[in-house]
Amino acid sequence: MNYLINQLMGNKPPGWGLSRTAGRIIVFALVLLAAACASVPHTGRRQFNFISDSRLNALGLQAYKEVVEKEPVVKDKRLTEIVERVAKRVAEAAEAIDKPGFQWEVRLVDKDEPNAFCLPGGKIVVYSGILPYAKNEAGLAAIIGHEVAHAVARHGAERLSQALTLQGALTLGSEILKTKDGKLTSKARLILGALGLGATVGIVLPYSRVHEFEADRIGQLYMARAGYDPKESVRFWTRMSQIKKPPIPEWLSTHPADEERMRKLTESLRDALNYYEEAPAKFGHGSLL
Ligand SMILES: [Zn+2]
Repeated sequence: MNYLINQLMGNKPPGWGLSRTAGRIIVFALVLLAAACASVPHTGRRQFNFISDSRLNALGLQAYKEVVEKEPVVKDKRLTEIVERVAKRVAEAAEAIDKPGFQWEVRLVDKDEPNAFCLPGGKIVVYSGILPYAKNEAGLAAIIGHEVAHAVARHGAERLSQALTLQGALTLGSEILKTKDGKLTSKARLILGALGLGATVGIVLPYSRVHEFEADRIGQLYMARAGYDPKESVRFWTRMSQIKKPPIPEWLSTHPADEERMRKLTESLRDALNYYEEAPAKFGHGSLL
């Protein structure tokens, strides 16, 4: 997730720098007014997103090409085949349930880091370092399901929309608080600083937790429909929660407290087991990795 945000945001300012004119602010406000509020599948939560799917998917593809170019691929044929078939089954389940219409692809990268992500548009990347935690196909389906759910629920676009809105609001604030000679007073700087900090902590962080719970819940449905026992998702996240020793992977830092996550995963199992019942084929835990 953080990977995606970094990819989308890059090092470049998103175009709403503090020195921009009021004209830019008006354009920004119009964009916000035109923005559609979509709702997230399965949770029904209304989400604020003004980034088009085509723009987002193009960014996802660009990021995927970079991974393919730069990261070494795993040579082990057996492991590659397992990752490919689990990803295919989860992708088919996501299409059957929510029909995102993605161009799916998966890459198993040789990197000793417990990480995986799905870029907007359906490009999945799994690091070999997560396979020991996945342990079996069902564990792998839990992580791929979770990452695919982030992409299908357009969490990346939502977070990017929030970040740009925040920046736009601060730009507007600075325009209002500027003195006649166009400079910010020290008091104005203080206010804007506090607002920026408050807004980041108040909006972006809780949202990342909301996104994690949503991805857990939706991912569990996908893995179940893909034919993998959804109970393994609870065991998988338990194994992941045992990674405590530093360095903690960056993507874990936005993940919610373990106990709450386990409680919610167990709660949503009933729905997932219904999807498992209706799965076209059942594989239980699948092969060991
Ligand atoms: Zn996540």
